[in-house]
Parts: sequence; structure tokens; C-alpha cells
Amino acid sequence: MSIAVTILGNSSAKPTASGHPSAQVVNVNEQYFLVDAGEGVQRQMARCGVSPLKLRAVFISHLHGDHFFGLFPLLSTLGLYGRRTALKVYAPRPFGEMLDGFLRLCESDLPYQIEWVEVDTTKHQIIFENDTTEVWSLPLRHRIPTAGYLFRQKEPALNVKKFSIERYGLTVQQIVQAKRGEDVVLPSGEVLANADITYRPYGALSYAYCSDTNYSARLAKMVEGVDMLYHETTYSADMRKTAKERGHSTTADAAKVAQMAGVGRLIIGHFSSRYKDLEALQAECREIFPATDIARERETFLIEPKATKQ
Ligand SMILES: [Zn+2]
Ligand SMILES: [Zn+2]
Repeated sequence: MSIAVTILGNSSAKPTASGHPSAQVVNVNEQYFLVDAGEGVQRQMARCGVSPLKLRAVFISHLHGDHFFGLFPLLSTLGLYGRRTALKVYAPRPFGEMLDGFLRLCESDLPYQIEWVEVDTTKHQIIFENDTTEVWSLPLRHRIPTAGYLFRQKEPALNVKKFSIERYGLTVQQIVQAKRGEDVVLPSGEVLANADITYRPYGALSYAYCSDTNYSARLAKMVEGVDMLYHETTYSADMRKTAKERGHSTTADAAKVAQMAGVGRLIIGHFSSRYKDLEALQAECREIFPATDIARERETFLIEPKATKQ
């Protein structure tokens, strides 16, 4: 019941000899989601051993090329692989127009459906939900409409403490009641408060992806307490003015958001091609927020469940 984030690309728009533009695979409870799909995403997935057939859905932050130019080739490949199940692509407008053109002019007989779900980049709301997972949109401050994505595991079902079952001789019916979150009344009339006899087997985990964006205090509020935050750091701290003008963040901006939000860990990426020494960027962040790491390509960052008390 962990969340694993595999970095496929950590660079911003200008190509470099070794770096790839933004893309990552977020694995929540063995459900694979592709988040952004910069050029080369298919090859990076192959290098990281992630089969594209496993993808449950795709989330695109915005329609700058370094975040989606790799998507259409991937959609074609899924056809070659014989995918049959529909694939949802969450993206801001006007992605639907691009998809229509692609399907009409390039791939008129794909063996599976591609369903575009429009993301309202002005709202912080649930856009994907199933029994175990929620995905929330995060309004970002960029030059064009842009959304980040917040992945949240749902709280696991309640378990009843073994100690309580034995001590009070709880019946199957009473255990079911307790698992539903109800108090249990014993034959003696004693009421057992639900919180005293149950526990959650593990804590729900969360991960937020935020690229591209200016510094935003509002964003810090929306990602408060997440276990791991990916925040772009296109520029070093001395490039504050440039970052602001171009709708991006500096190392200090990202670290400040992480600090204000009280996140467990900060991962930085979307680096400008001008930086060869990523450690220097990391060091700037660590001055403000020590638990900062570089989103190195092909590295997987694991968020593991915290043990809860029985
Ligand atoms: Zn970008
Ligand atoms: Zn952008």
C-alpha cells in the first residue's frame, strides 16, 4: 500500500544531451498513472521497466510541449500493443482539439478508446476517484492554464483490536458494527466507544506534483501535510526576477512552499538547461528545507506506510 514515483524526465523545455523533459510514473497501490509526457517518455518507460500497457490514466499539467509532446507517440504504441481498455487523459483545454485531430488524421482505427477529461485549472477538486485512491487538481500559476495533481490514498477500513475482541468477548455482529465505525453496546449496557476498540492498519499516503508554477502560498495550503511534494525549481535562488516573469519557481520558492506546507519530503525538478551542477540547487533548497532531494531520471522515490498503533 505504498506510493512510488519514478522520474522519467527532470528537465525544462530546452533539450540537453542527457536530460528528458517532464514525465513521471506514479504508482498508487499498484495502479500506474502517467503524469506529464514530455518527449522521449516511451523510451524512458522502457528503460525503467514500466510497461505502458499498465497505465490506468494519464494526467497532463498543461499544454507546453515539454509536458506532452511525448504523449501522441505513446498513444499510437498502445494501439500497436493491442490495448483494448479505454484510457482516460486528464488535461486542460484545448487538449480535446489536438486529440480529435490526432484520431482523425493519424490514428483512425486505434483498437481502444481515448477519453479526454477536461481539467478545470482554476479549481482544487477531486477529478479521479475509486475505492482506494483520489486525485485532486491543484491550480498552478503559470503562463497558460496549468494544474498540478495531488494523489491521495483513501483511509483504509477500520480493524478491530484483537485485545478488545478477547477482553469483551465481541461477537461477529459486534465486530462488523465496529468496523462500520459504530460504538458497540455490551449486554451489560456498557458502551464501547468506537475509537477505543478500532484502529487503521496503516496511514493513508499522499503525493503532490507541482510543475510549472510561480511561487504560490495558496498552493502551500492545498498541499499541506503531504508525504512527498514534487515542486519545480527551474532556477537558482538568484534568478528570482526571471522565474517570476516566466511563470516558474526558484529553489527558494520551492523550499518555502515545502516548509509552509509541512510536507514530509521535497523532490525538485524541471531544471533549466543552464545548470550542470544540480547539487548546488539542492543545497539552496536544503538551507530552507533540509529534506530535499533531486529528481534524478530513472530514480524511484518510495513513500511507505507509517506504522499505526493497535
Ligand atoms: Zn515546463
Ligand atoms: Zn510550462
